[in-house]
Amino acid sequence: MFDKILIANRGEIAARIIGTAKAMGIKTVAVYSEADAEAPHVTAADEAVAIGPAHVTKSYLDQEAVIQAALDTGADAIHPGYGLLSENPSFVRAVEKAGIVFIGPRPEVMELMGDKARARAFAEEAGVPVVPGSDGPVADAEQAQQLAENIGFPVLVKASAGGGGIGMNLAKTPKKLEKAIKKSIRRAESAFGDPSFYLEKYIENPRHVEIQVLADNDGHALHFFERECSVQRRHQKVIEEAPSPFVAGFDGLRDRMTEAALALVRASEYTNAGTVEFIVSPNGEFYFIEMNTRLQVEHPVTEMITGHDLVEWQIRIAAGESLTIEQSDLTIDGHSLECRIYAENPAKRFMPAPGDITDWNHPTGDGIRVDSGVTANSKVTPYYDPLIAKVITHGSDRTAAIDRMKQTLTDFQIGELTTNVPMHLTILDHQDFRDGQFHTSWLEAEYK
Ligand code: ADP
Repeated sequence: MFDKILIANRGEIAARIIGTAKAMGIKTVAVYSEADAEAPHVTAADEAVAIGPAHVTKSYLDQEAVIQAALDTGADAIHPGYGLLSENPSFVRAVEKAGIVFIGPRPEVMELMGDKARARAFAEEAGVPVVPGSDGPVADAEQAQQLAENIGFPVLVKASAGGGGIGMNLAKTPKKLEKAIKKSIRRAESAFGDPSFYLEKYIENPRHVEIQVLADNDGHALHFFERECSVQRRHQKVIEEAPSPFVAGFDGLRDRMTEAALALVRASEYTNAGTVEFIVSPNGEFYFIEMNTRLQVEHPVTEMITGHDLVEWQIRIAAGESLTIEQSDLTIDGHSLECRIYAENPAKRFMPAPGDITDWNHPTGDGIRVDSGVTANSKVTPYYDPLIAKVITHGSDRTAAIDRMKQTLTDFQIGELTTNVPMHLTILDHQDFRDGQFHTSWLEAEYK
């Protein structure tokens, strides 16, 4: 097992990974930017290395600085968390070249899944249903127009390098297609330096359901059931839960979806933790949209219902250990919910709302987990994603988990900062949400 791990991330996820490493008896190294010198993830680690100025490109995305920090502190492995360098194959190669273990999948599979157009084609070949759309990237607007006529409007223009809902634009009619393409190209070019795009049929009012997978280096692959992430704003998840109240309503749907996810894992010889994302139409047809080759923000709901620590498994697999459990060992216990707490203003189109945290006090106890990257006196700066904490609850059933969430958020004191907590409370009380009757456009329609 590793002696020391460097965590190439910040905020709640860095703190969460440090927690597991410590419990495993592994020493930890944090990296931090000038803006994060006093952040909780820095104080939580055994050692901490300053890697540059506040701007991510000059610190957390500076591959050389991160690798140098690992070499200087004698870390055996790097855990990338999510976002930042977590899905960057060139970083993985540089880490390995430096003689350090990367805690995650191989760079080749990361490359394959990172190109969403290629991943689609690969999934289709592996027998996994994909959304009707273009075969690979589309050359230009003219070709797109022809393809879109065949696919049928509305169509979604998606950036091949996409992520975080960036570069995704809806064209409801043929007339709107050219504008949607231009918008996607512009955003994809500035965000990813890659203008290539592809087309997908736009599935109306779908659910977003994803399958958590883990695979070791001996070809042993397991699924950890599904998560439902259909409460979204701007194609970004706001509330996640496990299991999905929707999937449970269709006979055999969970089995078909988990089998499809594992088929993709086997075909791509995937290792470590990953998530296969699907959208599901209201009548229960499911389609692959992408695979995320890393730990997801919402992984805690899976941990709550299965009792397994996914970060611990990531570390064990990276250290060469085999999965010592079988699929039949995994069962769903109760229900879990996660509310993402953002420093943002839902009334102002979810604009980030940085500021000072003067008061930070949350309930603890059975069935409550708070993963946070801030504390009282923390500053939420404009430099990073405004996700400040995740509140996760567990209950014997969905209603119990929702009620516990409602109580926890009601008692949560976050002083002086504008957050989306009031919006969460509104959602938790909404009859549609209580009934499990929602889809990916539901929140934006309800919360105008
Ligand atoms: P990203 O990688 O940018 O996060 P995804 O492909 O994972 O993009 O899609 C993000 C969200 O966009 C999905 O959860 C869903 O709400 C919506 N979406 C994606 N593809 C489609 C589609 N073909 N039809 C309808 N909605 C879609």
